[in-house]
Amino acid sequence: MTVPERATACPECDLLLQDVAVPPGSESVCPRCGHVLREGRPDSVLHALLLSTLGLMLFGPAIGMPLLSLSVTGLRQEASLAQAVLALADNGFWEVALMVATCAVIAPLLNLWLLFAVSVTLQLRSQPSWLPLLMRLNHHVREWAMLEVFLMGVLVSMVKLKDIAELLPGIGLYCFVCLMLCALLLNTIIDEHELWQTWDMNQAGPH
Ligand SMILES: [Zn+2]
Repeated sequence: MTVPERATACPECDLLLQDVAVPPGSESVCPRCGHVLREGRPDSVLHALLLSTLGLMLFGPAIGMPLLSLSVTGLRQEASLAQAVLALADNGFWEVALMVATCAVIAPLLNLWLLFAVSVTLQLRSQPSWLPLLMRLNHHVREWAMLEVFLMGVLVSMVKLKDIAELLPGIGLYCFVCLMLCALLLNTIIDEHELWQTWDMNQAGPH
């Protein structure tokens, strides 16, 4: 069997196929199982650059500003995400603190920094040998970023606590929601394939 020059394997059925360019708005589908292989998402490098910059700007306030302000019998208490993680660790919930820190802080931040570094480098047409490593690393880090799971937890606790305490969403919560939307957009409109293609084109030299 001859392997196509630029081969790609269907992740569902392993059929070996020729990798083709997909025009914007179109998609390529596996002829055997119907799995959508690629969707034409143009300008991935520029979108990655803009969204990762925006995400990094939102990150500080989302982690450091108060998420919620809770008031019981006139006593008001505010807590940010960073404080919540420290409080969990202080109270002996080390595993939970570690999970929240990993999925809601470390992985999303690393994901944004890696995407920012990759998109800036690609946009500048620079060809450092470490770039493919960052791109592969980002592919794995992305799987650990679960901002939406944490937000769901915050919303559930707000519903549970609303009868016994007066709850007010803080500026940190609004920033966190924007950060989550930013991460969601990054995952939906950016085609990793196009980032690799840009890397290939930069390597091939100026046209
Ligand atoms: Zn297939």
